[in-house]
Amino acid sequence: MSQDKIWLSSPHMGGAERDFVKQAFDTNWVAPLGPNVNGFEKDLEDYQGENVHVAALSSGTAAIHLALVQAGVTAGDEVICQSFTFCGTTNPVLYLGATPVMVDSEPDTWNMCPQALKNAIEDRIAKGKKPKAILAVHLYGMPYKVDEIHAFAKAYSIPVIEDSAEALGSSFKGRKCGTFGDYGILSFNGNKIITTSGGGAMVCPTKEVKEKTVFLATQARDNAPHYQHSEIGYNYRLSNISAGIGRGQMQVLDKHIDLRRAMHDFYVDIFKDVSGITVFSEPNEEYYSNHWLSAILVDPEKTNGITREDLRLAFEKENIESRPLWKPMHMQPLYKNYPFYGTGVCEKLFKNGLCLPSGSNLTESDRKRIELVVKKTF
Ligand SMILES: *Cc1c(COP(=O)(O)O)cnc(C)c1O
Repeated sequence: MSQDKIWLSSPHMGGAERDFVKQAFDTNWVAPLGPNVNGFEKDLEDYQGENVHVAALSSGTAAIHLALVQAGVTAGDEVICQSFTFCGTTNPVLYLGATPVMVDSEPDTWNMCPQALKNAIEDRIAKGKKPKAILAVHLYGMPYKVDEIHAFAKAYSIPVIEDSAEALGSSFKGRKCGTFGDYGILSFNGNKIITTSGGGAMVCPTKEVKEKTVFLATQARDNAPHYQHSEIGYNYRLSNISAGIGRGQMQVLDKHIDLRRAMHDFYVDIFKDVSGITVFSEPNEEYYSNHWLSAILVDPEKTNGITREDLRLAFEKENIESRPLWKPMHMQPLYKNYPFYGTGVCEKLFKNGLCLPSGSNLTESDRKRIELVVKKTF
């Protein structure tokens, strides 16, 4: 393979990141606290709006873990989870010895199906256990059905952990994803829409939740001159070096979202005359996706038998990365014995879906190479 690899989603620096990191070295703030941590949190609070408070953490997975702890989840409890997601959403449920209850997706946003959620809540209550939390995900940056999901959560008084790890910059009815839940989760892993090389955050509706989160993320130290502990703590704070990268990335976030959305438009354009291909798009103008990853569904009955795997292999031959959609958690060996509520919508999405190169740093010549593979395959 002579040509450079085209990645699904790779880090894209804006330029100022190095300056913030250099400043950290110059002032010797090489620690999991410091001006960059505070500055990055402030940037995220301003960006999210709604008077939220943000706690910067070592990963999105850590943020979900601390949200579950604060929702009071302990061993033997049940937590409702969107099955169609990455394992970072659901693994913290197992860290706590709790039971994940998997819920199917609906076809409009590919996210948690409100009807399946309602069925799951009612059936779990009937079986004797009310779920302690709901983990809903804005997958690929597409907002889930916020009104319906939160209405059911409220009706049954169950807190919502809003996994916005893929949806920084997405919004529903003009309000930013990550600000709807009792706890909002962000991730800054290497392949996300912005990166701190690795990191995450909790978006908190109140100052109290933020303070508790920081307390738990710094080993839960009681107020005493010596080290004293009456609760289990964690070492989950973000480093001041990583936060420096984050401050630089915040300067280019909106520009990079425009570029990702342009990649989505590019796919809409090149697939518009190909029958059997659906480009994953917002159901209506209330939804605004950052299009973190562009994705398509391939219907082999309408493509003369060409499958998503045929297309994936055609891309691979040209050194272009593409990837099947997330394999639903209830189909994973680790999770297959937990309850699942739904009709198999996300199983079909997994069978026929493919994520395509979506980075904000793709060039015109990258797009030409992608288009050529599509033209040759169909
Ligand atoms: C990336 C991701 C996470 C976990 O974030 P990390 O920072 O990688 O721990 C959780 N949920 C979803 C949907 C993700 O895509």
